[in-house]
Amino acid sequence: MKADVAIVGAGIAGSALAYHLSGEGLHVTLLDGDYPGLGASGRSAGLLTSQHWNRFDVALTRASQEMCDHLARDEEGGVQRVGFLRVTSLEEDIPVMRERVHTYLKEGVMAEFLEGEELSSRFPSIDSSGLLAGVFTPQDGYVDAYDITSTFASLARERGVAMAMGNKAKAVEMRSSKAVGVETPQGELSAEAVVVAAGAWTPSLLRESGTPLPLKPYRTQALVTAPVTDLPILPMFHELPRGLYLRPDQDGLLLGNGTEHDEADPGGYNTHADFELYAKVAAWATERVPAAKDARIARGWAGLCVATPDRFPLVGEVEEVEGLFVLAGFNGLGVMRGPPLARSLAEALLGRRPTFELAPFHPGRFEGRDDFRIREGFTLR
Ligand SMILES: Cc1cc2nc3c(=O)[nH]c(=O)nc-3n(C[C@H](O)[C@H](O)[C@H](O)COP(=O)(O)OP(=O)(O)OC[C@H]3O[C@@H](n4cnc5c(N)ncnc54)[C@H](O)[C@@H]3O)c2cc1C
Repeated sequence: MKADVAIVGAGIAGSALAYHLSGEGLHVTLLDGDYPGLGASGRSAGLLTSQHWNRFDVALTRASQEMCDHLARDEEGGVQRVGFLRVTSLEEDIPVMRERVHTYLKEGVMAEFLEGEELSSRFPSIDSSGLLAGVFTPQDGYVDAYDITSTFASLARERGVAMAMGNKAKAVEMRSSKAVGVETPQGELSAEAVVVAAGAWTPSLLRESGTPLPLKPYRTQALVTAPVTDLPILPMFHELPRGLYLRPDQDGLLLGNGTEHDEADPGGYNTHADFELYAKVAAWATERVPAAKDARIARGWAGLCVATPDRFPLVGEVEEVEGLFVLAGFNGLGVMRGPPLARSLAEALLGRRPTFELAPFHPGRFEGRDDFRIREGFTLR
């Protein structure tokens, strides 16, 4: 069988792409070595915050929030808009935070700068000792990213996309600098265009196919508590200097982030959270949320994100290889960035003008550079 488009990887990015290409008269096949959402997407904390170090992401997050709300099949789905509070105890962050608030407001995002006592009067459930200031974006929220991913995939299937699950691509087949299909254990799937959206496995798959790109997988972690009795209503909360965050999770809390800055091996990384992280985040959460003093960590996990030199993803056609596209390198922000950039790539593949211009994300922008440091995407600067 021959596809017009073969998508490798059914995470949030590949599944959203399949959904946006479906119902357009194309033969689209979505392949995954596993099942939709079992990579980083199902391991994500699902935070959708407008607070970013650049304006592209402010717009992308808003689009992702709208898309998640649109997908929600019932009132309990969609974005849980509890707001996002980012705080600091460092003087040097204050001017940057003030400036960011101007940017957010200019982009149409509701945002408030809070200083000193304002933090404790607005958020009495959070112990703000030692904190100097914060920014609150009340319309931000979180989603169940596994649910979003599997909804994109199942709607794509309903609209005619062929699903090839349990089908791990070995390489992209090339002929005379043109991608002609995907090599799988079940044989070759011929395709006019191949999109590699394989998350942390993208760099090795591209290397195998002779088209390396500057992408580095790195490990990050999350934990959840058992239900906490009388837990107050809390926003998503991120304490900058400590690099820790929490958000409500059913009747308990979800906590992160334990990001490592070394390149990880997707073939054999530790999928469990580190024991040291259990103790560290539990101590921090009970310090900041006194009502959670009896909270017990129920489980934890680790997943892989993918870094790029400038912390922006790679989206578009790989230079000098006709028909080979990449949709990866979300730098830990793939629930925010993935769905809108997948939609824009689908629009480009369908010959339409993309909602988000893809030039800033062009995969060829680094000219082969791969000597870069892994830096977090989820931060103030
Ligand atoms: C602990 C944690 C917390 C996070 N929190 C947030 C957050 O709050 N907000 C946010 O925006 N982002 C967050 N992220 C990041 C976000 O989860 C990722 O950026 C996003 O899920 C990446 O999606 P993806 O589709 O690119 O990759 P993935 O979800 O990893 O999907 C890749 C898919 O490709 C498949 N695959 C791999 N190799 C092959 C192959 N050879 N053949 C076929 N299929 C293959 C895999 O099985 C997988 O299903 C978090 C990540 C982690 C780990």
